[in-house]
Amino acid sequence: MAVLLHPAPSVYQPRPAGLPGLSSPEAARRLAEVGPNAIVHEAARSRWVILRSQFASALVLLMLLAAGVSFFLGEGLDGAAILLVILVNAAIGYYMEVQAQVSMAALQQLALVPARVIRDGLLTPINAEAVVPGDVLFLEAGDLVPADATLLDAAQLLVNESALTGESLPAEKQPAPLPPGLPLAEQINAVFKGTSIVKGNAHALVTATGMRTELGRIAHLVQTAEQAATPLEEKLAVFTRTLIKVAVGLVVVVFAAGLLNGQPWLEMLETSIALAVAAVPEGLPIVATLALAQGMLRMARHRVVVKKLAAVETLGGTSIICTDKTGTLTENRITVTGLITPVREVTAASLPALAESPTPDLTVALRATVLCNTATVDFASTELSETGDPLETGLLRFAHAGGADVAALRATFPKLAEEPFSSETKLMATLHAGAEATPSTVYAKGAAEELLPRCTALLQATGRAVLDETTRGQWLQRADALAATGLRVLGVAYKETTGPDPELLRELVFVGLFTMLDPPRPDVAPAVAEAQSAGIRVVMITGDHPAAARNIAQRLGILSGDAGPGSVLVGRDMAAYEQLDAAARQRWAATRVFARVSPQQKLDLIRVLQDAGEVVGMTGDGVNDAPALKQADIGIAMGLRGTQVAQEVADMVLQDDAFPSIVLAIRQGRTIFENIRKFVMYLLSCNLSELLVIGAASVMNLHFQLVPLQILFINLVTDVLPALALGVTPGSVTIMQQRPRPSAEALLTRSHWQRLLVYAGIIGLTSLGAVLISHFALHRGEQWNPALCNNILFLALVLGQLTHVFNLGTPGLSPARNEVVRNPYAWYAIGLCLLLVLGVYSFPLTRQALDLYPLSGWDGLLAGSAGLLVLVFGQLYHYWFFPAVVEPSGPPAQPPAPPWPAASP
Ligand code: ATP
Repeated sequence: MAVLLHPAPSVYQPRPAGLPGLSSPEAARRLAEVGPNAIVHEAARSRWVILRSQFASALVLLMLLAAGVSFFLGEGLDGAAILLVILVNAAIGYYMEVQAQVSMAALQQLALVPARVIRDGLLTPINAEAVVPGDVLFLEAGDLVPADATLLDAAQLLVNESALTGESLPAEKQPAPLPPGLPLAEQINAVFKGTSIVKGNAHALVTATGMRTELGRIAHLVQTAEQAATPLEEKLAVFTRTLIKVAVGLVVVVFAAGLLNGQPWLEMLETSIALAVAAVPEGLPIVATLALAQGMLRMARHRVVVKKLAAVETLGGTSIICTDKTGTLTENRITVTGLITPVREVTAASLPALAESPTPDLTVALRATVLCNTATVDFASTELSETGDPLETGLLRFAHAGGADVAALRATFPKLAEEPFSSETKLMATLHAGAEATPSTVYAKGAAEELLPRCTALLQATGRAVLDETTRGQWLQRADALAATGLRVLGVAYKETTGPDPELLRELVFVGLFTMLDPPRPDVAPAVAEAQSAGIRVVMITGDHPAAARNIAQRLGILSGDAGPGSVLVGRDMAAYEQLDAAARQRWAATRVFARVSPQQKLDLIRVLQDAGEVVGMTGDGVNDAPALKQADIGIAMGLRGTQVAQEVADMVLQDDAFPSIVLAIRQGRTIFENIRKFVMYLLSCNLSELLVIGAASVMNLHFQLVPLQILFINLVTDVLPALALGVTPGSVTIMQQRPRPSAEALLTRSHWQRLLVYAGIIGLTSLGAVLISHFALHRGEQWNPALCNNILFLALVLGQLTHVFNLGTPGLSPARNEVVRNPYAWYAIGLCLLLVLGVYSFPLTRQALDLYPLSGWDGLLAGSAGLLVLVFGQLYHYWFFPAVVEPSGPPAQPPAPPWPAASP
C-alpha cells in the first residue's frame, strides 16, 4: 500500500526545499567540538601487555631453567647465550603479534561506513564518522543509520531496531510531535545509530553522535564480547597442545636413555630442555594469524575486503559460488535501446527525431521514466555524475535524449506518494500532482509479467483501449522473445486519478516495453572457466527474466550453448524449503540458473546446497538479501551497488562488484591455507629431524650430541625466517586445478603426515650419515672425534634444513619451477640465514658459545653436500611417489606476494 508523502517532494532533488543542511565550515567546526561520530572501543591489548605475554609461557620458564643449569655448571657464556635466545625469541613473538594487530586495525579501517548528508545544500556522501549534530541525513532502504536523528520527512519508513530494542519486527516510523522522555521503542519520530532501514526513505536531523547516541550509551555492554578465534587458529592451538605432549614424552625418553648410558644428569637435563624448546612449534597459531591477516590485506589491494579472518579459511574450501547477474556478471551500465508501444517501435537512434512531435504514448512513457524514478543524473556537468539504480539512470539518459527536461518535469509534477521498488514485487509506482487543473497521475514500471496483469487498458494511437486476455498474452510473449535475445525488458504503465489513491498498482493503462542492454563483463567468462576448472560450480541467481538469464549464462559459459529453457528454474516453480522432496532437492542442486527468484528463495537454495554438504559463497546486495548472506558460508556483498546492511552482515565485500574478484579471493584463500600447511610441515619436519638426530645420539650412546645452544640456534634462528617466507609463497600454478578442500579435512591429512615423516627422515639420516662418512671414510682408523662429529652434524643439519625449504613446493611440479623456488622471499630468507651462520662462525665469542670451529676442506664439503642431498632426496621422493603435474597454460600465475610485513594497502 502506498503512503502519502508529507511534505511534498523530498526524494527527487538532492536539495529538498527547506532542508539546506549545514555548511562545510560549520560542520568542520562542530566535528572539532564534539569529535568523530564513532563508538569508542576499549583499547586493544596494549603493546606492553603483548610484550609481557611473550615471557609468560612454560617454554620461557624451561629455557630459564636451562640457563640456570648452565650458570650452575659454571658455563656462564652458555647461560648468557640462552638468555639472549630468550630475548630474541620474545622479540620475534612480539613483532609478529604487533604486526597481526596492525594488519587487523588496517582492515577495520577498510570497513568504514558511508553516510549521505546535505552539506552546502547538496546531497553529499561522507564517512559516517564525520556526521555531526545538526546534519540532515538522507536514509533509504538498506542504509545503516549513522547517528541518532529526528525525522523531518519519511516515505514508508520501516526500521529494524533489533540491535537496540531486541524487537525483531521492523518498526514503522514517521515525523510526529511527541512528548520528551518516551521509551526508545515508542519514539516513532526518531531513528537511532546502529539500526537499519528496511524499507522506504527519509530525511532526518541528527541530534546525537558517537558515544552520546543510544548505542554509545550501551556500548560498554557489547564491548566485552571477545573476538573469537578462527576455526583454523583453534585447530592449530589444539594441534600445538598435542605436539607439546608428544614432545615432552619424547624428551623424557631421550633424558632417560642418556642417564642409562651414563651421561651426567645435569647436562642431560639441559639437552632435554633445549630439545623440548626445539620440538614445540609454539609460534604456530600466531604465524597462522599473521598469514591470514596478511592475506586479507593482500586481497584488499585487489579491492576485496574480507571482514573476518575465518572467511579467508572458508574461502579456500568454497565449492559453489551463487552469484547474481546484474552488475556482478554484467557491466551494470544499462543502456536503453528502445521503447515498443502499441503505436510504434522507437529506437535510441530514432528517438530524437520522433521527440520533435511526440505522440501521447511517447510523452507518457518519457514522463514515467523521469517521474517514477529515484535516480539523479547531472546532465549539466561534463562528467555526467549519476546517483541511484543504473537501470533508472539509464532510463533518465534515454528521456534526456528524447528531449525531456528532468528537473522541470519533477518540479511541475511533484510526487505525492510512492510504492518503492522491491525485488519481491518487481514493481514500482509513484503518484504525482497534476499541473494546474489536470488530475493526478500514477506512473508505474516493472517486470512485464508483474505489470501486465495489473493493467486493464492499453494506450493506442486512438486513445485508451481495453486490454483483453489475448492482447495481454501477446505482449507477454513479446517480452519473452525480447528477453531471449539477452535484452532486459521493463514494462511501463500509468493511470489518471482524481484523489489520493491508496492502490497505485491497480487498473493501470499499459504504455509499452523498454528494452535495455546490459552486456556481460568481458573478464567474467575466463573467471567462470577458472572457477569451473577448480571444481567450483558457478550458479546464477537473478531477479531477471528466465530467457534473459539463460542467454547471459550461455554467453558466460555457466550453461552450455545448447541448454534449453528447461535448464532455468523459475522462482514461481520453486516450493518452500519445508515442502521440498528428495527429487526437488536434487533438481535444485543440479540447476545452474535460477530466475525471478525472491530473497527468501535464495535463502532456501543455500540451505538445500548446504544440506548436500556444499560450502556456499553467495552474493547479495539488497536489504532483503541479509538473511541469505548470513546463512551462506561466505556472504559476499557488493561495495558499489550493495546496501550498507548487506555489507554489514557479509563476510566479504567486493569493492568493484566484479565476479572475477570472487575467483581471485578463492585463489588467495586456497593459497593462504596451502601456505599455512607449508610452514607447519616445514617446522614440524625440521623439529622432528632434530628429535631424531638427538634421540638417536642419546639412545645409541653416540659421542657427538648437539649442545643445547646449537639446538636453540637452529630452531629459533634458522627455522623461523624460512617458515615466514613460506607463509607468503605465491599460489602454485595448480592451485586452481585442484578440487575444493572438504570442509572437514584436517590441517594435515594422512598424506601430509607421511610426507613430513619422510622429510624428517631424510634430513636426520643425511646429517647423521655425514658424520658417519667422515668418521669411517675421511678419518678411517682414527679415534672418535666428538667435537668434529658435532660440528659436521650441526652444519649438515642447518644447511639441510635450509635447502629443505624448496621441498615444500607442490610435489610433482618440476623442481626448477615450483612455487617456492619462484618465491623471492624464500631466497632472501635462506640468504639471511646463511649470513647469520657465517656471522656465528666469524666471531670467536659466538664460536665459543656454540662450540663451533671452521671445518677443514673435506669435512666442510661433506657437511655442505649432506645439506644439498636433502633437496636431492626430497625431489627424488617427489619424483618416485607423486604423479607429475602438467602445468596449465591457462591464467597467469599470481605476482609474488609482498614481504613480511606488508605495507598498509
Ligand atoms: P539480479 O538479481 O541479478 O541483480 P535484477 O536486477 O533483474 O537481477 P532485481 O533487482 O530483483 O533483479 O529486479 C527484478 C526485476 O524487477 C527486473 O528484472 C526488472 O524487471 C524489475 N526492476 C528492476 N529494477 C526496477 C526498478 N527500479 N523499478 C521497477 N522495476 C524494476
